[in-house]
Amino acid sequence: MSAKIKFNGTITAVKARIRLLRSFDQVHHAYLGYTLVMDAVVDGKDWKGCRIAVGQKTHEKHIFLKGDHISGEAVPIEHSEQEWADFYKVSGLKLISRGDASENHPADMNGGIASPLSVYRENGHLRLDPKTYESKCSLCSWGLVMATEIILDHWNPSRKKWRFETHCYGPRDCSNYRPGKPRTVQGRKPGMVWIDDDFERARSGDY
Ligand code: SF4
Repeated sequence: MSAKIKFNGTITAVKARIRLLRSFDQVHHAYLGYTLVMDAVVDGKDWKGCRIAVGQKTHEKHIFLKGDHISGEAVPIEHSEQEWADFYKVSGLKLISRGDASENHPADMNGGIASPLSVYRENGHLRLDPKTYESKCSLCSWGLVMATEIILDHWNPSRKKWRFETHCYGPRDCSNYRPGKPRTVQGRKPGMVWIDDDFERARSGDY
């Protein structure tokens, strides 16, 4: 078990923390909570864009918003390929001060209140071009970088690999949205590849 770190800083974005599980053409989700993106000081050092995972109940209690100043302790993520956050297992969390009251509104492309996980489940997601995520969606709570577990052989689930995928859970008419290329998923045998045309299925109404 890694040693705890102390952090404090200002939240710059609140993102749902949802893991994607792929097995060829099958897709499942694990709804884990939220990730707070922060301009933080971690053990005395500045860390812009530091990401701290918190549970669903913690977000429900505090309703974190961009601009809030918080502090606490947390543990470094053990397997960085399996988790977008840098730290988790937060303890001693303190909400030191609230940000600007103008952030207190339903989620939009620049911030607001990140919705309950049940709303993410209901909305579903479409692939999001990674470059669009970087340039337009980093403040939006609907835009997620999702740790994705891929089971390469469903007869032998220990054969797996991980990657990160960007997805949008937001309104389908968002002017920032660009799908990018379909994601491919490797199958059990050489040459077996599933192409996940989620955007194309949504456009044809078959989703
Ligand atoms: S495309 Fe999606 S993630 Fe990006 S700003 Fe719009 S709603 Fe948010």
